[in-house]
Amino acid sequence: MSKLSPIYDVIVVGAGPAGYSSAIRCAQLGLKTACIDNWRNKQGQRILGGAHLNSGCVASITLLESAKLYHSLNHDLKKQGIHAENISVDIAALIDHKDKVIDALGHRITELFKHHKIDSIHATAQLSNARQIRISPVDGSEASFVEAKHIVLATGSSPTQLPYAKVDNDTIIDSFAALNMTTLPKKLAIIGAGVIGLELASIWSRLGCETILLEAQETFLSLPDQQISREAYRIYSQQGLDLRLGARVTSAKKAGKKVVVEYQDQEGLHNLRVDKLIVASGRKPNTENLAAPEANLLLDENGYVHVDENCRTNLPGVYAIGDLNLLGPMLAHKGIEEGVFVAEQIAGRHASIHYDTLPSVIYTDPEIAWVGQTEQALRAMGEPIKIGVFPFNATARAHTCGKAEGMVKLIAHADNDMLLGVHIIGTHASELIAEAVLAMEFSASSEDFARTIHAHPTRSEAFHEAALAIKKKPLHVPG
Ligand code: NAD
Repeated sequence: MSKLSPIYDVIVVGAGPAGYSSAIRCAQLGLKTACIDNWRNKQGQRILGGAHLNSGCVASITLLESAKLYHSLNHDLKKQGIHAENISVDIAALIDHKDKVIDALGHRITELFKHHKIDSIHATAQLSNARQIRISPVDGSEASFVEAKHIVLATGSSPTQLPYAKVDNDTIIDSFAALNMTTLPKKLAIIGAGVIGLELASIWSRLGCETILLEAQETFLSLPDQQISREAYRIYSQQGLDLRLGARVTSAKKAGKKVVVEYQDQEGLHNLRVDKLIVASGRKPNTENLAAPEANLLLDENGYVHVDENCRTNLPGVYAIGDLNLLGPMLAHKGIEEGVFVAEQIAGRHASIHYDTLPSVIYTDPEIAWVGQTEQALRAMGEPIKIGVFPFNATARAHTCGKAEGMVKLIAHADNDMLLGVHIIGTHASELIAEAVLAMEFSASSEDFARTIHAHPTRSEAFHEAALAIKKKPLHVPG
């Protein structure tokens, strides 16, 4: 094994959103930076962007946008007088289109790395100690060592495995394979009605597949505000998703070309025969073999890297960001922000990060997005609150688009009027939430929202109206 040691200021391990953003900011701040990543695309070629781009959110949203178009052409547009005959969908071409989008975006990151003179190393990295990394090149060439003054670990996460539903990526598949099916299964079951399960269900059900979600919890979507979750349950069920709550899968076995799924609910044990089963039961941090035992990197019992509030691990100069730590949820933009946050710290700059105003999004149709606290959490804490809710079906714009389902819910402190939480279910919720995030960053009150002129007609008026609803004076619903 050769010993190669260009001294970098920073080595970033992982080129997902957290890692590549960190590498770019380090380079922008004049630090000599390298980024090590081992991802390969279907053709075995190197591509940056990590799971988020290649097998996660971006891949999923690309397919969802195609599936929405197909569904609209077949259903929604008829009521606008638009008739399309003989609509068909070529699933293999749809997947190919998604791969082209991913490739183009991955290529942009490569170009950014070149622009910022970041050394990009296609290899698997293992932390040897606080300043040294062992690199095993993906092409199988000899392993070597590389050194840096600072190391940023950003290796992301991967799907958890269930011992009783072993993924074979033929009939029992993980979320990555679920974004690469080239034929349409007639009947599909998904283990887990969490974020990933719902996003995948939104795609495949829209393309015409009978989709059943099996969720062990009795409560549907426990993270968002429960008023929003109830509305989501109603809308998704109406769309035809078969949501079975309190349904714990206990086994899944291949039976010829099908899968027999066994699950338990209050009524007993059930069998379900489907063409494909997707396992979407959660994700775990990628920390296996990330550090050599002698490096003594401290992990918790679930494999997350132990960090302080500055993303610093127990090893001096070594940081862990994104899905590797438990400072916030597994969200790409949380990782991006932490990547910038640690780069600024390494460069000796003032750095801060506000987890309280981190938006969450579920990319279903309609989307769900929120920032801040839920009504349930605030009531449990005994906070005095006031609430304004405004439905999109009372805004003109929502009707012009034929997408009038959902609502905006604003929660403010009853005494000082400060915004404490904003919750949305509806078309473009992922874009709309940005206004609420900015408002909360600026410590806005509901009065600020109520006094802010919103263009008419727009979907964003629902914010304005929800703030007016707090004062019991909404304009477009009886107050
Ligand atoms: P999740 O924890 O959100 O959902 C998994 C669900 O599977 C849980 O509700 C759990 O009760 C259920 N489950 C587990 N075992 C089961 C069994 N045997 N039978 C029935 N149900 C079972 O996990 P996920 O959806 O895989 O997402 C993982 C992480 O990735 C989350 O933190 C999520 O926030 C993040 N993520 C976010 C986005 C986004 O921001 N849009 C997209 C993808 C992933």
